Order: sequence, then C-alpha cells, then structure tokens
Amino acid sequence: MTDCLFCRMVAGEIPADVVHETDRVLAFRDINPQAPTHVLVIPKEHHRNVGALAAADPGLLGEVVSGAHAVAVGEGLVAGDGNEPGYRVVTNTGPQAGQSVDHLHLHVLGGRDLGWPPG
Ligand code: C5P
Repeated sequence: MTDCLFCRMVAGEIPADVVHETDRVLAFRDINPQAPTHVLVIPKEHHRNVGALAAADPGLLGEVVSGAHAVAVGEGLVAGDGNEPGYRVVTNTGPQAGQSVDHLHLHVLGGRDLGWPPG
C-alpha cells in the first residue's frame, strides 16, 4: 500500500477515467477539469516531479510527453500534425507553482481559448 494517490490509481485501487495507456504511461481525466479537455498524463512509476524524472529516466519523460500529444490527438485538439485548435501542456513543480500531488503529472488542457500568462 502506498500513500501516493496516483500510484494507487495505477494499481487500480482508486478508480480513474482512463483515456490513454501504454506499458509505462497512464492518462486519465482530471477530477476537477479547468477546460473542456483536462487530462493528466503520468509515468506509472513514481517520480516526484519533472526534474526528478528527467534525471532518472529521460526516455520515460519522452514517453510521457508523447502520451500528452497522443491525448491531444485523441481529444481532437490537433490533427496529428500540430494544426489548430491546439492545446497546452503544463506541469507544476513545488508549492509556489501549486503542485498538490507529488507524482509527476502533465496537465493537457484544451477545448477553449487559454489565457496567457497563466495565473
Ligand atoms: O498540479 P497539481 O499537483 O495541483 O495537480 C493535481 C491535479 O490532480 C489537480 O488538477 C486535481 O484536480 C487532480 N486530481 C484528480 N483526482 C484526484 C485528486 C486530484 O484528478 N483524486
């Protein structure tokens, strides 16, 4: 038993609305969506944040980023060749950025106009 919420989702102990999955990556809908599409993409293996994963396994980080793009394609946010309407990938690191779950996750957001800069 782990205390990590997302590890427990990977283990199937907590339900997740999965939209994309590979051997090493899981993508599921955010429980509190901030846009019409709001999906979280995680490595199944526990890594605290993007820097930790970049140091430990850059290949897996690439798989997570590829997973985010696959989600965007699947959600109809891009045609697969980078065309409109587009999407945003965000990852928060640390308390000042608002990270609330200490298991790396990329937020894939789209389906509406997204303001810049973010809050
Ligand atoms: O970047 P941050 O760490 O704040 O993002 C965590 C995300 O996990 C939030 O968007 C939150 O809505 C989501 N979440 C979820 N399911 C849970 C708990 C949190 O999708 N059971």
